[in-house]
Parts: sequence; structure tokens; C-alpha cells
Amino acid sequence: MLVETLIDTPYYHAVGKEIDVFNQAYKNKIPFLLKGPTGTGKSRFVEFMAHQLDKKIITISCHEETSSTDLIGRFIIKGAETVWLDGPLTTAVKEGAIIYLDEIAEARPDVIVAIHSLTDHRRELFIDKLGETVKAHEDFMLVASFNPGYQRGFKELKPSTRQRFIAVSFDYPEPKIETEILVNETDIDTDTAKKLVAIGNKIRNLTELGLTETVSTRLLVDAAKIIHSGLPKRLSVHVAIVEPLTDDLQTLEALKDLCNLMI
Ligand code: ADP
Repeated sequence: MLVETLIDTPYYHAVGKEIDVFNQAYKNKIPFLLKGPTGTGKSRFVEFMAHQLDKKIITISCHEETSSTDLIGRFIIKGAETVWLDGPLTTAVKEGAIIYLDEIAEARPDVIVAIHSLTDHRRELFIDKLGETVKAHEDFMLVASFNPGYQRGFKELKPSTRQRFIAVSFDYPEPKIETEILVNETDIDTDTAKKLVAIGNKIRNLTELGLTETVSTRLLVDAAKIIHSGLPKRLSVHVAIVEPLTDDLQTLEALKDLCNLMI
């Protein structure tokens, strides 16, 4: 769990109308779903919005073992006593924070069940272990992200869950914006940033490689960072962009050759 005390505004470059949509979702207390591949700025956007709205954000990175107990709370033994400890979701519901369930589809099904009553007109959380229902604070907002399942290996989100959210798609930004992001995030020179973005787009278009996930903005940012801090460009591209994508030796070699021509 990550509870952030935000001081500086996180840098976020808008790519569409997502800021307006989020503001309206917040105003109307409608849950917000960010759809899109990994590394496309979803988490950064939520951090940015929380800062803009001056709200605390509690982030949960969901995985196969994330259960409703992890989110709602549990009894713990303290000395001779058993005491109840609120989980992050319960805390957010009571305090009126933004809860961000990153990769919600990865969590166990009981998590989805637990949030249902929070995502409709009831806006309440049932704590089964206490037999209590907690009404959400007026400012509470539920935000979730997921990686749509058009590629193998990703879990889907049921229509009955998806339809409780306002949803916005995130994707790799257009080259001009992605170049600006690299420059802003890493202070790298514009010319190298442009080359990295061109490499990213080239590999993204090589759909025949059948990569599970392709080059994200995050990978390009990482490459830019290590170039800026002094690693040779080609080596940086190999280790930050190519190696994380695949373990297939032939594909690795082909991608490295391709990148060498572009930087
Ligand atoms: P996701 O949550 O979609 O996996 P992140 O929000 O962690 O992705 O983004 C990964 C990195 O990419 C960020 O740390 C940031 O450096 C960069 N990034 C991607 N999109 C943007 C954007 N629109 N504005 C600013 N930075 C971005």
C-alpha cells in the first residue's frame, strides 16, 4: 500500500480530455476506470488528479493474492487482545480519500464483490467480519485501472463490474507528446528523445513479433534516464527497451539490429 503526501505537482502531459472527464466523475461521485496497456501514464494521471483536487490517494497494486480482507481490514492480536485494523479501502471510505486499485482485474473475485456496493447509489462498504456497514465519506472516490484482455495472459473484467465506472482509454501518446514527456521526465536532449520515440513506434508496429506487451512510454523514459546519466545510447536502448520485451534470442537480435540503425 502506498499513501502519498504530495508536495510537488506530479508532471502529467494530458493526451485528450481525461482531466475534464475525471473532474466531472469526481464531482458526480462516479467511479473512474483507466483502461490501457502498462506504462501509458495511468498511475501518473491519477497521482496528478489527486494533487489537483488536493486529495489523499491510497494506491493498491492488485495481484492474484489481493483479497477483500487485504482491502477491508482484519483482526490482529495485540498483546492479550484481538483488535480490528481497518484496511486501506475502509480508511479511504471513512476519510474521503481517493482509492486507486491498480490492475483491479488481477485481484481475487471477492475484491470485486466487496466494491460493488461502493460503486452504485448506495456508496457503502459492508465489513462482513464486523457485521457493519460504513457509508462512504462525501469525498470518497474509487479509481481503478486495468489492462484490456486483447492480448494473451490478461484477465478480463466482467461487464457487471465495468458498467459501474466511467471509463477512459490510455494508449501510447502521439510522437510529439511522447517526445515532450521524455524531455520533461529526464532532461534528455530533444534529438535523442525523438530517436527513442521513433524506436518505440517502430517496434510497436511490428505486430508480427507477437510480443505480449510492446514498448511502453515507461521503457522509453527509462532508456532516456540512463542515456542522460551517461550510459552509451545503443547499450541503453538494448537494456532498457529490447531486453525487457522478450527472451526469444532471435527476436532479441533482430530488435537490437533494428535499434542500432535508429540511434
Ligand atoms: P501505468 O500506470 O499506465 O502503468 P505510469 O503512470 O506508471 O504507467 O507511467 C509510466 C511512466 O511513463 C511514468 O512514470 C512517466 O514517466 C511516463 N508517462 C507516461 N505517460 C505520461 C504522461 N502522459 N505524462 C507524463 N508522464 C508520462
